[in-house]
Amino acid sequence: MENVVIIGSGPAGLTAAIYTARAALSPIVFEGATPGGQLMVSLEVENFPGIPETIHGAVLMQNIKQQAENFGTGFITEDVQNVEKKDGYFEITAPSGIIKTKTVIAATGATARRLNIPTEDKFYGRGVSGCATCDGAFFRDKNVVVVGGGNTAIEDAHFLTRFAKKVTIIHRRDYLRASQAELEKVKSNPKVEWLIPYVVQEILGENTVTGAMLKNNLTGETMQIACDGIFVAIGHDPQTSLFADLAELDDQKFIITRAKTTETKTPGLFAAGDVMDPVYKQAVTAAGNGCKAALDAQKYIENLE
Ligand SMILES: Cc1cc2nc3c(=O)[nH]c(=O)nc-3n(C[C@H](O)[C@H](O)[C@H](O)COP(=O)(O)OP(=O)(O)OC[C@H]3O[C@@H](n4cnc5c(N)ncnc54)[C@H](O)[C@@H]3O)c2cc1C
Repeated sequence: MENVVIIGSGPAGLTAAIYTARAALSPIVFEGATPGGQLMVSLEVENFPGIPETIHGAVLMQNIKQQAENFGTGFITEDVQNVEKKDGYFEITAPSGIIKTKTVIAATGATARRLNIPTEDKFYGRGVSGCATCDGAFFRDKNVVVVGGGNTAIEDAHFLTRFAKKVTIIHRRDYLRASQAELEKVKSNPKVEWLIPYVVQEILGENTVTGAMLKNNLTGETMQIACDGIFVAIGHDPQTSLFADLAELDDQKFIITRAKTTETKTPGLFAAGDVMDPVYKQAVTAAGNGCKAALDAQKYIENLE
């Protein structure tokens, strides 16, 4: 019987590992299909405390993993296939077998939705981003595009006007889902332009983004625009299918935790990071939640004993 199984190896999972390993709980981390999590594709991270120089996301995650390993964390590079609560413990099913554990920390993240067009992968983290808060500052005096028509897209566009020369909002429908309050923020901003109803068909450039090919959704006409960055703000998919029966989910499928804790509705199952955070979705907030989940799991185990 293990003490703690952590599912996910992004900032939340690895921080939970550091804390539970230092508490002598010998945690096991399932790394999943993306060891290191979302930051692995970020070429430049500038806002993680304690790292004054710009750092490659993969190097930052390797450092955090090393720290967790130094304290005795075990790693399994597999996707967990099933999590089941038995009589007072959990059964974790993975390709290599079944593990029994007293507690589980869900740290499976939330995937930023993509445009799913050719060339997007090539430029993801190199001009195409799913996070304006993270990457906006890299586009000072540049022309950027925001794709989306909901509150997040409009908020992102508003935020990006602090840095960019011009922000073009591209939305596929001829109406916007964003609230009037959000729209008011950008309506009279001279830096903001609109292209509605357009979709991005192709991202253009050699090594960096230089433009996009757009299609008008009503007329079918195509046009090319010049831009240096594309922010895709069309929502996130929290990776919660493993926990659908064990945790309460909100309408966007993020895990709901009990106020001021990382507890879910199932005793012994804790959640940390983007998987339970529809609002902030930052590496440092994920790490902070990972710390909380570790301390909550530690207390839960102490009470069992
Ligand atoms: C391009 C980009 C740039 C970013 N830049 C910044 C930045 O500069 N600063 C910042 O603070 N934030 C940044 N972010 C946001 C930040 O990366 C996330 O907020 C953070 O990674 C969330 O951490 P997490 O641990 O909750 O989840 P994630 O990092 O998403 O990790 C989830 C983990 O769960 C694993 N997993 C999923 N399903 C399973 C399963 N079934 N079994 C086992 N494992 C599973 C995955 O393999 C992965 O390891 C950026 C995000 C992106 C996409």
